[in-house]
Amino acid sequence: MLKKPMIKLEYSYLSLPSKFYQLEKPASFIKPELVLINDSLMRELHIPVQNQEDLLSFLLGLQSDGNGSSFAQAYAGHQFGHFTMLGDGRAIVMGEYLDPLNQRFDIQLKGSGRTTYSRGGDGKATLRAMLREYLMSEAMHHLKIPTSRSLLLAKTGDWVHREMLHEGSVLARLMKSHIRIGTFEYARYYCTTEELQALSDYTINRLYPELQQDENPVVGLLKRVMSTQIDLVVNWMRVGFIHGVMNTDNVSIGGETFDYGPCAFLNTYHPETVFSSIDTHGRYAFGNQANIIKWNIARLAEALLPIIHNNKDQSLEIAQAIINEFDENWNKKYYGKMLNKIGLENNHSKFNSLVDELLNIMKELKMDYTNTFKDLSQDIVSEENPIKRADFLPWLEKWKNIINDSNRIQESKELMMMNNPVFIPRNHLVEQALDDAVGGDMSLFSQLIGIYSEPYRHQNNLDEFMKRSEPGFEKIYQTFCGT
Ligand code: AMP
Ligand code: MG
Repeated sequence: MLKKPMIKLEYSYLSLPSKFYQLEKPASFIKPELVLINDSLMRELHIPVQNQEDLLSFLLGLQSDGNGSSFAQAYAGHQFGHFTMLGDGRAIVMGEYLDPLNQRFDIQLKGSGRTTYSRGGDGKATLRAMLREYLMSEAMHHLKIPTSRSLLLAKTGDWVHREMLHEGSVLARLMKSHIRIGTFEYARYYCTTEELQALSDYTINRLYPELQQDENPVVGLLKRVMSTQIDLVVNWMRVGFIHGVMNTDNVSIGGETFDYGPCAFLNTYHPETVFSSIDTHGRYAFGNQANIIKWNIARLAEALLPIIHNNKDQSLEIAQAIINEFDENWNKKYYGKMLNKIGLENNHSKFNSLVDELLNIMKELKMDYTNTFKDLSQDIVSEENPIKRADFLPWLEKWKNIINDSNRIQESKELMMMNNPVFIPRNHLVEQALDDAVGGDMSLFSQLIGIYSEPYRHQNNLDEFMKRSEPGFEKIYQTFCGT
């Protein structure tokens, strides 16, 4: 007899036309074994944590909740600029969870076996890649950046071939929804206009219900996605995050960071920094993320054209006018945030050039991104950071004068401390923690999870965790997609 389900799940996505999904069950794993469970997230969501094994078997689909079916989502996307039909090739939405505040979240399993959309892939995920996603997504959450969260990670007990054999694993992750720009591209190019309209209605109702009151809710949706994505990517720039694979299928309509394959954090500042092994032309380089998100939003606009207006030319005109507002909106929000990083309020645009000058000097002097801002906020001169070097002093003097003139020294300091993290996932530490963890030693991994849960608070005796990765390490460091 089936035990009473741990949590009740809903399946509102299945109200969409059936072209948008395939009902799928996760593979049955030989010997699943729990590796990590996110207790604090479980508590936040009011998911009972007492019986972890039950929860694991429930999430792996061994116990059905008898209420609906898990499914894989259909989508398309521009990958490195090229349009392709895609879909959840190694992920399954197990259902939607409503928290006590009635907020709806997808619970998705990643690495749960092949689906209709797997193409040549095996549908599996390595333990190392899922541990990496768990760590990075939790770090992003505590950096106060919207993101998918990691709920639980288990070893599947089987092996995954990637050049060599790796332990297989499955990650349960949580997002407001997995609807992405690529879902709309799929609707536009593989479905009817009615089906595109149905997706738009569903998305607005689920993510932005207030837009239903707009004169033109589809226009409202496009504007809102542009605005939340600008906020998101500005936040990435604030903490030095390089997503690494900003294909349109990896851009969520809800404005959450997701798909943590090849992401990494900047150490030494250079806008052209790229770590992803396949990004040979630097399309997704740190300093190109604004251009790319604009390009991606233009793909969303194209997909929405048939339902923006029933006159083709007018539709194009409306969409173009929205995209034309991108640059001004980006500049306002980007400089606003960067001014906060140097202790000035957003509305001090006359000092925007101060930001540009600082970044130029940081590039010339090969300064660490995180530690430079941290040292400025804390008035610390660390050994490795040349903020007291002769060639940095003119900028420092100028900046100090502006801060002193503003007569708000304490407020400036607080603003900086709120916006400049002390601890970010340093590439060499992340890799060391993952090496240890796949070898069975979780101590560094657990320590990092702890440190990154309070990234803005200075703590004594943790200097090792603030140091940048060695330039030699950074030169050869590479990250990988979908391993
Ligand atoms: P990503 O680069 O992770 O966004 O993946 C692009 C697409 O490839 C997604 O639709 C994934 O579901 C699919 N995919 C990635 N890895 C695998 C795999 N091992 N097996 C099947 N599909 C995969
Ligand atoms: Mg993806």
